[in-house]
Amino acid sequence: MEIRVHGIRKAFDGAAAALDDVDLTIRSGELLALLGPSGSGKTTLLRVIAGLEFPTAGTILFDGEDASRRTVQERNVGFVFQHYALFRHMTVLDNVGFGLAARPRRNRPPKAEIRRRAEELLALVQLQGLEHRYPAQLSGGQRQRVALARALAIEPTVLLLDEPFGALDAKVRKDLRRWLRDLHDRTGHTTVFVTHDQEEALELSDRIAIVNKGRLEQIGTPTEVYLNPANGFVFEFLGSTNVLPVEVRDGRAFVTGCPVPVAEGIAAGDGRYALHARPHDLVLAAERQEAGLVGVTDLVRVSPGLVRVDMKVDGLPRPIELELPMKAGGWTDLKRGQALRVRIDRYHLFAA
Ligand code: ADP
Ligand code: MG
Repeated sequence: MEIRVHGIRKAFDGAAAALDDVDLTIRSGELLALLGPSGSGKTTLLRVIAGLEFPTAGTILFDGEDASRRTVQERNVGFVFQHYALFRHMTVLDNVGFGLAARPRRNRPPKAEIRRRAEELLALVQLQGLEHRYPAQLSGGQRQRVALARALAIEPTVLLLDEPFGALDAKVRKDLRRWLRDLHDRTGHTTVFVTHDQEEALELSDRIAIVNKGRLEQIGTPTEVYLNPANGFVFEFLGSTNVLPVEVRDGRAFVTGCPVPVAEGIAAGDGRYALHARPHDLVLAAERQEAGLVGVTDLVRVSPGLVRVDMKVDGLPRPIELELPMKAGGWTDLKRGQALRVRIDRYHLFAA
């Protein structure tokens, strides 16, 4: 099922538009992450796709057909939310079979068939043996897997997941991510997955759509959006960032008067820009004559595999963050107050 979101606008009474002219094509069988900060419109977009919310303007096409006026049932979507309320008084098996058992009689499968399907789905989400438990007797991760099995029971054309692992602890989230990717690869459902966690989006999805203030900033594979962010917002949202004011003059770049080599692929006319660089793209410069930023170490923190250093540079409002890989050496005797020279290996320039 291919979903096309075309010119979607959604305004709630008396508020700024929650979605503002969103165009997005979700390819058949892909796992797409909708990534953005809280309040950016992710849930609203998911609800518009599901038919739980009608857009103020625009259309939704399911496999090329206008589905904008179809109801939730007619769109046949499977849903999982962050706090998915399973029915507390029902066993796991009955929870999974609920969507089928609640159908009108004419297209309700017989009881034995519902049971068989529910058992099959519980095997798929690796919960065999827990059929007769109640939700209270399950861990958080198991409950979300029951919720997924329940969403899959109606044989949805699309699976919509709204921060489904948001309420779980970090370790369980990581396990469920792998597990969901694997499930997706086995079932091949077109899946839209909402998250505000960039690591989750990067690790899990085929493509990421980044939303901000009701608008789509960029869509692409994890590698594309990480390496070629469309703008400063996308760059900053995807990972730790140093933002430095830079001036380009005659094809040369200067940060607080220090020349920095013009990074590969950067072509910018003379003017002022915001230079965005990841902490791991800053390296200690060995040679005295090598171009680089000069500063003084502030905090030095050791964490597994790398050393994080904050460096104060005259003329910059905030310290620069560096991440030095331990295996590169040269970090063991870094102390606070030590002079450093740093080269910026990769960066992007965006409008200041
Ligand atoms: P996200 O899921 O990215 O956190 P939402 O889609 O929930 O963002 O919300 C986007 C914006 O729309 C927010 O400003 C929110 O307050 C507003 N909003 C969402 N739902 C409603 C509603 N039912 N009524 C009024 N405003 C809403
Ligand atoms: Mg939300």
